[in-house]
Amino acid sequence: MISLKDNISAIKAILRIPRECSPRVVWKFIWNFGIRNMINISRFEKRLKRGEPFFPAFVMISITESCNLSCSGCWVTHNGKKHLSNKQLGGIISDCKRQGSYFFGILGGEPFMYSGLMDVLERHKDCYFQIFTNGTLINEEIALKMRRLGNITPFFSIEGLEQESALRRGKNDVFLRTMEGVRACRKARLIIGAAASIGKSNYDDLVNRDYINMLAKEGVHYLWYYIYRPVGSNPKPENALDKEQIIKLRRLIVEERKRAPLQIIDTYWDDLGRAFCPAATGLSHHISPSGALEFCPPLQMAQEFINENGTNTVEQFGKSKFLAELRKLAAETSRGCILLENPEKLVEYLNKQDIIDTTTRGNVMQELQAMKALDGHDQRGEEIEEQNFIYRFLKKKYFFGFGAYG
Ligand code: SF4
Repeated sequence: MISLKDNISAIKAILRIPRECSPRVVWKFIWNFGIRNMINISRFEKRLKRGEPFFPAFVMISITESCNLSCSGCWVTHNGKKHLSNKQLGGIISDCKRQGSYFFGILGGEPFMYSGLMDVLERHKDCYFQIFTNGTLINEEIALKMRRLGNITPFFSIEGLEQESALRRGKNDVFLRTMEGVRACRKARLIIGAAASIGKSNYDDLVNRDYINMLAKEGVHYLWYYIYRPVGSNPKPENALDKEQIIKLRRLIVEERKRAPLQIIDTYWDDLGRAFCPAATGLSHHISPSGALEFCPPLQMAQEFINENGTNTVEQFGKSKFLAELRKLAAETSRGCILLENPEKLVEYLNKQDIIDTTTRGNVMQELQAMKALDGHDQRGEEIEEQNFIYRFLKKKYFFGFGAYG
């Protein structure tokens, strides 16, 4: 049973944003992210119901392969050369807006190594951008630029405390430099997020109340827990979570949502604790640095590509038989992650397709063929329902599977 005290804590965590962030930043969050997304998701639902040409509710865009770190389990080709042109990035955003989609995840590599990023985002003041960053290149000047635009939330990937960050990310002092980036964004009064891809090696560091409280003290407003996927050229499958750890992570998320001083995000479970794959439901798909339309970021295979101006993005999503079949295959295979839970079935399907490896390293198929089935977030019979009324409402409204799971 949720106590009144718990509900008050949850509301206090939300009220940190208007209290700590600049009014412009808060207004852009409410309108460009909040209101526009509610309209966008209902348009997405209508498209699905009417059988109109498919277009996802959200598009994640990886703008460059360049990065100043080399993390284990990362799907991006280290020292890769691929990147979207500013024209392509602008064209993708404009084309998606035609379908009512104004919220974009901007990924890399490291997006702050991409020249012209702020200029492109400035041309789309009516949108909202979540920039996935390791934060090591963010200083006060860049933070103030984001504040001036107001439509950006920096989303810091923190993969461990000092020692684990150094081990996982292939460089020393990464954790300290990332936290300096967080502090610069706090000083600029931005809405700040933190992401963690949880594996065995950083579980004890990051899956506990002390870490959550530490982030809130540092000015972080939301924490997004992901489950480690052993992909890319340095996969480390031994670092993947087992069933007990995944269920324990889910339990912590539900428990801490009742009292955490920040928002705890996941896109893995619905309000009843049933597993959910954002790509299988069509809620989100990915565009890679080579302009490829991909099922999701770690699945680097494609048939369709955007043109040099990004003006055919909607058309390509609408006609992609490959993505339609993959959505069906993933939803029929599991409510969870086909990449983790049944890579063999995925490879079997991909082997029959005329598809392109979208990476610089060009050996994704061998990597997928080497993957063995692992525990994922679809743990039938172990469902843990949402207990916080805010999350229960949002999950019920926006994470109900959109008919993908019957
Ligand atoms: S297949 Fe797995 S990694 Fe891809 S979107 Fe679904 S849950 Fe996420």
